[in-house]
Amino acid sequence: MRYISTRGLAPALDFRGATLAGLANDGGLYVPEAWSRGPEGGIAALRPLPYAEAAARIAACFVGDSVSADGLSADFRAAYAGFVDPHIAPLMPLGDGEWLMELHHGPTLAFKDIALQWLGRLFARFLGQRQLTILGATSGDTGSAAIHALAGLPQVTVVMLHPHGRVSEVQRRQMTTVTAPNVHNLALTGDFDDCQRIVKAVLKNPPSGGELGAVNSINWARLLAQVVYYWTACARLGGPAAFSVPTGNFGDVFAGYVAASMGAPVARLIVATNGNDILHRALSAGDYSRGAVVPTTSPSMDIQVSSNFERLLFDLWGRDADCTRAEMGDFDAGGRLTLDAATLRQASQHFASAAVSEAEAAETMRGAWHDHGVLIDPHTAVGLAAARRVGPPGPGVPMVTLATAHPAKFPEAVRAATGVKPPIPDRLAAMLEGEERMTVLPASEAAVRGVIAELAGLGRAA
Ligand SMILES: *Cc1c(COP(=O)(O)O)cnc(C)c1O
Repeated sequence: MRYISTRGLAPALDFRGATLAGLANDGGLYVPEAWSRGPEGGIAALRPLPYAEAAARIAACFVGDSVSADGLSADFRAAYAGFVDPHIAPLMPLGDGEWLMELHHGPTLAFKDIALQWLGRLFARFLGQRQLTILGATSGDTGSAAIHALAGLPQVTVVMLHPHGRVSEVQRRQMTTVTAPNVHNLALTGDFDDCQRIVKAVLKNPPSGGELGAVNSINWARLLAQVVYYWTACARLGGPAAFSVPTGNFGDVFAGYVAASMGAPVARLIVATNGNDILHRALSAGDYSRGAVVPTTSPSMDIQVSSNFERLLFDLWGRDADCTRAEMGDFDAGGRLTLDAATLRQASQHFASAAVSEAEAAETMRGAWHDHGVLIDPHTAVGLAAARRVGPPGPGVPMVTLATAHPAKFPEAVRAATGVKPPIPDRLAAMLEGEERMTVLPASEAAVRGVIAELAGLGRAA
């Protein structure tokens, strides 16, 4: 299996290369050269398997020679050994054909663990003796999930930047209470954009003598791990199902599209956004134009440019890399792109969309608690509200909403909507009490470069 760039100018890579590269060097994203067919026997064959084994079968369709079948099984088993629910992505019925798929049973209580725990194993496998410094900026869930996935890996040093005093206490503690010596949290006295700008500048012009990498959401292996639960949900439900996906960077919902493209019976994908509705505007009216980010109670979806959307556009435009490069170049420069009627019609074969207001998300949290006795987090509420607004494509098709975070991760919003403070799971309680380790630094590129150089020096001395 080879991976090509959506912008057509970067070298084709194998799975290992695409995993370690992240972004393609022409500014595009790596996609498989062709969509593989799903595993032999389809959902009937997957149904009896433990989750990790189903994951290995599905990933095998895309990894080529990069990892053996046994290696995949071992890595997925290890990745999910720490999840508190043995089903990893269990389905919970709400009644009337509605289901929640709970993706928050990993160490940091958000769905990003499902992909990053596997990515950590892949890095360990692919790096061998090489040393890599992973540099990231986070305003929330990705940073903690990455730190928990990479903590203790001897080949990797993690340097994670967050804006000092501007992430929630839960999110900060999930990062700063990790004691592994390869994890370094830098709290910059600036905002998230400063952190991101500094990461980009350092990655673009890396210091000599050390390899630098990223674990951002455009990594193909992360998407591949997320393809699995669309398959296992259809297998469990015994046929076609519709999915409503709380969306920010278009990664999770694109994984659903990959599952459908492989032949999984994914009947409809609902792109659920909060007030940051660029994707809803794009899919409903063809208006893909960047606005200002408005803060909401679902911060992991407070995004105006959805990096992975380029992967879908590439397919919708007939996999024409020249066209994608020209259009995305215009978008990068001008912040606006228009989708024509034919493109929208094609997208509508798979996708529907809805934008959910703060009031509607809160009302959905309240309703889930009062009508079903279930506490859901604000991101999941956006998904559930969109699922109800759009509905399944036909009578009798189950409607599955992805529960992307545990309610205890967003206790204030949940309590404001329901009057109930979500109980804190043990694995979170430990983090809320542990001692914190972080370094406060000015928001300057030079200061961050200084830390990286110092850590590289320590690595050599040790
Ligand atoms: C990251 C995140 C999302 C959005 O996922 P994308 O793949 O970026 O669309 C939704 N909910 C939660 C809780 C998240 O952490």
